[in-house]
Amino acid sequence: MTAYLFSPPAVQSLAIRGQTERFPINRLFFVGRNYHAHAVEMGKPVDKAVERPFYFTKAPQTLLESGATMPYPPETNNFHFEMEMVVAIGKPGFRVSQDQAHSIIYGYAAGLDMTRRDLQLVARDKGRPWDLGKDIEHGSVCTEIVPMPGQIIDSGTIALEVNGQTKQSSDVNKLIWNVREIIADLSLFYHLQAGDLIYTGTPEGVGAVVSGDKITGRVAQVAEISLNIGPAA
Ligand code: MN
Repeated sequence: MTAYLFSPPAVQSLAIRGQTERFPINRLFFVGRNYHAHAVEMGKPVDKAVERPFYFTKAPQTLLESGATMPYPPETNNFHFEMEMVVAIGKPGFRVSQDQAHSIIYGYAAGLDMTRRDLQLVARDKGRPWDLGKDIEHGSVCTEIVPMPGQIIDSGTIALEVNGQTKQSSDVNKLIWNVREIIADLSLFYHLQAGDLIYTGTPEGVGAVVSGDKITGRVAQVAEISLNIGPAA
């Protein structure tokens, strides 16, 4: 046994629907600007003919299970929700072709890519990294993993409400880069591994929440998610 000076960080994990074993988390990848209407609302329209997808990552320690209360994070006055479909990778894959992309999928989940929008936009416009805007403690919210091995989801409602009022309502069929394309492209850069999650991007309608708000959302045929925004930590 390796002796550590102090206890190493716990392995992050999510429940798996219908199973007692949990899904251990390796890395958290996020696709930026992957619905046209959201790219436009952010002032950065996408031309798929000349652009490739881009990504950012968050630390696995930012993971928070659906149903929890997260403290309103520090150093923001514009804390946004982003409802996203999440792909859970179950097998290793490097330079995976679009045709074979399904073969490394374990399942799906519904996720929230919580964002300090004020800090993200400052970083974006100054050409700085997005970490302070995106890599937020408790800011990667996710439901249980729903096993759907080898399946590609290419359509279905994706929606979010704040305090019962609809804010986002779209369809996964509006992804600019679909699940096959994302896995093929991301696996050019990374040796994907079991336990990696890919948040596939958010549709239009993003907006701010404040302490006391309750977020609910869903990805049809996958899962329903909820998050309570607590007082500032
Ligand atoms: Mn996002």
